[in-house]
Amino acid sequence: MIFFIRIRDIYTLFHIIYIMINEIKKSDKDWKEKLTPDQYMVLRGKGTEKPFTGELLNNKKKGIYLCAACGNELFTSETKFDSGSGWPSFNDAINKENIIEKNDNSFGMKRIEVICKKCGGHLGHLFDDGPLPTRKRYCINSLSLKFKNK
Ligand code: FE
Repeated sequence: MIFFIRIRDIYTLFHIIYIMINEIKKSDKDWKEKLTPDQYMVLRGKGTEKPFTGELLNNKKKGIYLCAACGNELFTSETKFDSGSGWPSFNDAINKENIIEKNDNSFGMKRIEVICKKCGGHLGHLFDDGPLPTRKRYCINSLSLKFKNK
């Protein structure tokens, strides 16, 4: 009897894992359909766009920068500055509750990765060499952003 229960437990466990893997695959397929290949590479693959290529790099209009994947509000035009790095840069986030700042030690560098809290999409990195008053530089891929005029 005990033997049979264990077999059934193992079966149940594998079944749960099977369902989870399928869910991940399904949501990945959804992202591939929703995003352009370049957006997918950055947002879901943690890639980086080539510097000085982003559509929103030199955008000086007043408004809000949203997550290109899910529409979460991320940055405002008031905090945008020209860092010379080739990527849209901000010295603060619209709300700390909307983003995740996570240690990232990939490629032999100690960096802080910036992630959209709502959809888990990769946005860019955070550095501490920005202008006053925050001294922060949110270095964000233009491909991860969508602009909404004020
Ligand atoms: Fe998002």
